[in-house]
Amino acid sequence: MTKHIFVTGGVVSSLGKGLTSASIGMLLEARGLKVRMQKLDPYINVDPGTMSPYQHGEVYVLDDGSETDLDLGHYERFTNAPLTRDSNYTTGQIYLSVIEKERKGQFLGKTVQVIPHITDEIKHVIRKVADADTDVVITEIGGTVGDIESLPFLEAIRQYPLLVGRENCLYIHLTLVPYLKAAGELKTKPTQHSVGQLRQIGIQPDILICRCEQPISREERDKIALFCNLPPQAVIEERDKDFSIYEVPLSLVSNGLDDQICERLKLSTQSPDLDPFNEILHRLRNPNHEISIAVVGKYAEHKDAYKSIYESLDHAGIRQRAQIRIGRIQSSDIEDEGPEYLLSGYDGILVPGGFGERGIEGKVQAVRYAREKQIPFFGICLGMQCAVIEYGRNVVGLEHAHSTEFDKNTKHPVICLLDEQREITQMGGTMRLGSQPAKLAEGTRSREAYGVEEIAERHRHRYEFNNVYRQQFSANGMKFAGTSPDDALVEIVELPNHPWFVAVQFHPEFKSKPTKAHPLFAGFVQAAIERRARRNKSAGESEKAPEGRADSSSVQSGQDPSAGQPA
Ligand code: GLN
Repeated sequence: MTKHIFVTGGVVSSLGKGLTSASIGMLLEARGLKVRMQKLDPYINVDPGTMSPYQHGEVYVLDDGSETDLDLGHYERFTNAPLTRDSNYTTGQIYLSVIEKERKGQFLGKTVQVIPHITDEIKHVIRKVADADTDVVITEIGGTVGDIESLPFLEAIRQYPLLVGRENCLYIHLTLVPYLKAAGELKTKPTQHSVGQLRQIGIQPDILICRCEQPISREERDKIALFCNLPPQAVIEERDKDFSIYEVPLSLVSNGLDDQICERLKLSTQSPDLDPFNEILHRLRNPNHEISIAVVGKYAEHKDAYKSIYESLDHAGIRQRAQIRIGRIQSSDIEDEGPEYLLSGYDGILVPGGFGERGIEGKVQAVRYAREKQIPFFGICLGMQCAVIEYGRNVVGLEHAHSTEFDKNTKHPVICLLDEQREITQMGGTMRLGSQPAKLAEGTRSREAYGVEEIAERHRHRYEFNNVYRQQFSANGMKFAGTSPDDALVEIVELPNHPWFVAVQFHPEFKSKPTKAHPLFAGFVQAAIERRARRNKSAGESEKAPEGRADSSSVQSGQDPSAGQPA
């Protein structure tokens, strides 16, 4: 019988429910259990694909091409649970499906209502992921208890034990226990209220995970337990981690969370193998190198807009034993202040994916700076398209070369709409999406990094390299290191006369893990380490960071990138 864990959140949003759910998944896997992860989001959008990164951060893409919430990125990075279209549902999707059934007359003349029709649909999508192989399904409910829009999801998980038995379900509620400086104490009232609201709906949480800045004392824990109708050991402290997110699962273990879960769900397992996570933390704490990487994007100020990119850089740092300071650079600032002012001092420059014209010229200038100054460069999706535009304009000599996404009438459309996109008018879920195969050319950095000839990477784009220009670019030194197997689409470009200049049409950041850094991120970081070593050597002060903007004010690896950025 598959067991179900439902994770809800109370008091405030952004409590890190995704990370906590992913940590629970990781801990259960470390005990040898087969886990599936799922996120139910209360918003009406059918998926986050059409939303701006300002809303919910990056859109995370799965192998099957579904565009999902970024929490699924945490799930994939922390666990081996297979994720599919069924791993993320929104209110919009649930209603869409119910309304489609209604239009087909499938409700046989009945009045269609939130209870039972919407809640039945929700239970159905939960049940779908609980296949015969699965020991535990972890379903995270987005939003905060008390919101109107999450009510149908909460009602559905309240009903769920009626389907599978209460003994097979576990409710975990994540809350905030704030520290009030003026009072000099932790406050438990918001937690009491939030659990109170859950109980009104009919859900008695089994375990409370309390996010806090200060340790929770024995008395405070007993008080929370009493008011929330729980045994004290079911009140688990999750204190803020200022070093690394990889501390979270380990601290949950030391506070007894996994033991509690297994006890309540009657799962008899081995004790968890935590070696991989201990090794990650050991490496993070004992780096051999220190480098800085500039990520030049349109949403630099938003800490979640390039979440998987920041994480992938961290993974590469873990693998290459480098502490990476990430500078989040707003591309439009480069247009105002110039690349030298903002980018000198960095050991690598990364231009991530994106849409829309704002800041494009700043990105193109960043590519040019990296190319001319021989700074390791990594372009991703739009970043590759900018690299092609830059090379077209400044090396191939194609004046005003551009992408037709930004200039429909450009004389040199070096980036143009994919053929398959020409007839598409509907926005949601219609890009070239998901895992696509590519073949790598011999003697390229990409081939060397991957170590294989055939790869599969995740895509999310409408535009591509315009093959009309392939010959001209190639004659001018650009190498087409990766193409689709039929050679129709350019997937990777490289510059051989550069320490490391690799730009890819896909999103490698969706396939990197802390325990298995993506080969291209690892290659890029290694090139940045080598550049730093060369600079240190020529500065005559080995392994000491030179003075520079990048080092004085940017973000440390493993930390929340919002902690600071080059001014
Ligand atoms: N806007 C570009 C396209 O649609 C790049 C997309 C991206 O970077 N994900 O092709």
